[in-house]
Amino acid sequence: MATTEPCIFCRIVAGDAPCDRVYEDELTLAFMDLFPVGEGHLLVIPKQHHQDIFEADEASLLAVMAISRRIAHALKTALEPDGIGVHQLNGAAAGQTVFHYHMHLIPRNQGDPIALHGRKRGEPAEMEAIAARIRAVLDREG
Ligand code: AMP
Ligand code: ZN
Repeated sequence: MATTEPCIFCRIVAGDAPCDRVYEDELTLAFMDLFPVGEGHLLVIPKQHHQDIFEADEASLLAVMAISRRIAHALKTALEPDGIGVHQLNGAAAGQTVFHYHMHLIPRNQGDPIALHGRKRGEPAEMEAIAARIRAVLDREG
């Protein structure tokens, strides 16, 4: 009988694949993007698998947005960027590459090119350190 492999983000949720975790609660998980566009690029996902905005239930979308807001505040405090992009792609034609709903949070500074996908893998120690800085602010500010 054919089995369907869980997607990479479901594997992260299950603890079967690694991530630099920034935040977790009952419904959501946030972790550093493996191919960051810039310092602090992270993803917020619902723990439940939904392919995109068309499949996701309203509670999952609202939970992701609420946590994105909290983490955006923490990113602002931790990294003091000039701005933060909050982006979400649906369907390959829109640029989606991982088909488990997710929100990108991308700190940007004046003059940074607007890009949604990084070209090279983030440096593991750097990503771990940034995740720790963001977690520290979330612990402090809630
Ligand atoms: P999207 O194009 O919106 O589907 O973005 C998917 C994002 O997931 C890209 O920015 C990838 O760099 C990122 N990504 C893919 N696999 C992983 C992983 N194992 N851990 C963290 N980020 C990942
Ligand atoms: Zn999934």
